[in-house]
Amino acid sequence: MSEARHHRASQVIPGGVNSTVRAFRSVGGSPVFMERGKGPFIYDADGKEYIDFVCSWGPLILGHAHPHVTEALHKAIEKGTSFGACTEAETLLAERLCLAVPSFEKVRLVSSGTEATLSALRLARAYTGRERFMKFRGCYHGHADSFLIEAGSGALTLGQPSSPGVTKACAQDTLLAEFNNLESVQAIFNKYGDSISCVFVEPVAGNMGVVLPEAGFLQGLRNLCTANGSLLVFDEVITGFRLGLSGAQGYFNVTPDLTTMGKIIGGGLPLGVYGGKAEIMDRISPLGPVYQAGTLSGNPIATAAGLAVLDLLEQPGFYESLNFRAEQWENSTREALSGAAFPFTINRLGSMMTLFFTESPVSSYAQAVQSDTKRYGRYFSAMLGQGVYLAPAQFEAAFISCEHSEKVLERSCEAIRNCISGL
Ligand code: PLP
Repeated sequence: MSEARHHRASQVIPGGVNSTVRAFRSVGGSPVFMERGKGPFIYDADGKEYIDFVCSWGPLILGHAHPHVTEALHKAIEKGTSFGACTEAETLLAERLCLAVPSFEKVRLVSSGTEATLSALRLARAYTGRERFMKFRGCYHGHADSFLIEAGSGALTLGQPSSPGVTKACAQDTLLAEFNNLESVQAIFNKYGDSISCVFVEPVAGNMGVVLPEAGFLQGLRNLCTANGSLLVFDEVITGFRLGLSGAQGYFNVTPDLTTMGKIIGGGLPLGVYGGKAEIMDRISPLGPVYQAGTLSGNPIATAAGLAVLDLLEQPGFYESLNFRAEQWENSTREALSGAAFPFTINRLGSMMTLFFTESPVSSYAQAVQSDTKRYGRYFSAMLGQGVYLAPAQFEAAFISCEHSEKVLERSCEAIRNCISGL
């Protein structure tokens, strides 16, 4: 059924997908068409059940169709879907965001992670009066032109480090450093220091697979940015509300100047946010000259979902219990793979994890791309057959929600044991 649906979709949608990462190009086969989800499970158009480790690429920390979120959505939708005018819910959400995230003094709500990052970059450039910026090979910050230079995620998977259509002039303003390598950052500052507006980083990389920052890396970035008059921007579109209420910045105790978020904060609806010091944020129009607007920004449905999600994340013990479960997930996955005839490395922080098919530890982009992507393809297909839905590409994170019980996770490990000999 999925194949026929994909064939039909491909007649009218390029590749049959509305987001490149949904394609199965790097793992083979055609995308599975999904119909509904409940808790940790997702169901395809034929009614087949899968344990979902994609969780809509991160947002669904409460699992599918959580009753508290669904109820909030029902209530909001009754009142109308969009006003294009101010609502109090936007203020309530902004207040709770500013309380939770250390670097947020003021925030702007937008409709996607991409919108958040491109707006933050524009603001950083305007605030510093500098045009260049630095990012890291393998980090992904959405699909705005400036970021599509050696980007991670789909761009990495498809071997398209940059995309045609991005102008040379644009690419020249994007400077590339190596994740977990402060010398590479220093070298770029030495060369271009006074023209660098900001350094953009995923504080825990999720888009070359999960790669943790080494001790001192984030603080080192903070110091180098301060010394060179550049802003530090944490792209917490994945890590925001994933690692804890205060995100990676709280976890590692390093405060950036600006932060971008998306995914979890929208509870599965289109919502992003960027924010930081009031002094910087007040440069945005209408207070300042930096233009940014959006027909659906702060949309009441998305905002209601965000508030409902926060209700649960703010409950005492939410992250302790999620992270405890995630640790069990890692341990039982290691155990299930212990008889494997091939090498593997698992990187995990909190409830985000990647299994790499490589012998060496993975703490850099160069090490991540050593992973055997053909084996990942076989692993993906075998697991899919066993009712486990993983990201259809190696260089992504797997996520669990608070609905992924020990029993469900054990079932996924049973699937690994069943397919390990054929990998
Ligand atoms: N930044 C990071 C770290 C991401 O992982 C993503 C998407 O995966 C984005 C930005 C872009 O977000 P969106 O897909 O909502 O535009």
